[in-house]
Amino acid sequence: MRRRGKIKAVLFDIDGTILNCNSAGRASLIQATKEVFGTIGRMEKLDFQGKTDPVILNESLHMMGFSDEDIRDKTDTLKERYFFHLNENIHKYEVIIFPGIIGLLEKLSSMENIALGLLTGNFTESAKIKLSSHGLNRFFRFGAYGDDAPVRDLLPEVAKRRMDKLFSTDIAFKDTFIIGDTIHDVRCARYAGAVSVAVGTGWGEPETLKKENPDHYFNNLENFNDFIKLLED
Ligand SMILES: [Mg+2]
Repeated sequence: MRRRGKIKAVLFDIDGTILNCNSAGRASLIQATKEVFGTIGRMEKLDFQGKTDPVILNESLHMMGFSDEDIRDKTDTLKERYFFHLNENIHKYEVIIFPGIIGLLEKLSSMENIALGLLTGNFTESAKIKLSSHGLNRFFRFGAYGDDAPVRDLLPEVAKRRMDKLFSTDIAFKDTFIIGDTIHDVRCARYAGAVSVAVGTGWGEPETLKKENPDHYFNNLENFNDFIKLLED
């Protein structure tokens, strides 16, 4: 049997890192909430960044004064309506893929010692819908999603369980690169003991992101070989 070298993992955030779906997600969530709860309260003013979808839903519904019970009862319907609208909106809104992303994903999936996955606050289903806009689901064989854990910091453990199983090995967090566009991605990587890679393609200020001291920072991934080099040592 051929010996396989050490496997390293690369886990991507979606919004602001891989793509910008131009508010298709937010618009869909607002439409769904209006349908199911009859109001959107102050949802339009909420900061969605870095938060998982379940947390966004919970926070907004609590702010509107709905009880835990009411929220619990209606969450499944709300999710269903959200996915329905997202499926429609993803084709109406212009979804932009950031520079270098396709090339980087192609390169990473051609490397045999790389476990390529997702680490995102999106629900599993919304992640799939967003990535389907540009046929990107083919690159990802596993992921950790917003519906796997209530907070982002717990997602690396979930990703690890899945990738270890898929690759029948134990991939260390120090060999796991978490790429994201917010301070929450950097903190989540640090919490897990993973390598944080911040990209300046999101909505936040680059200075704020740099101040969080990510292990690596890129304005964007256009020159993606600079990122590939990080995996080579
Ligand atoms: Mg993001």
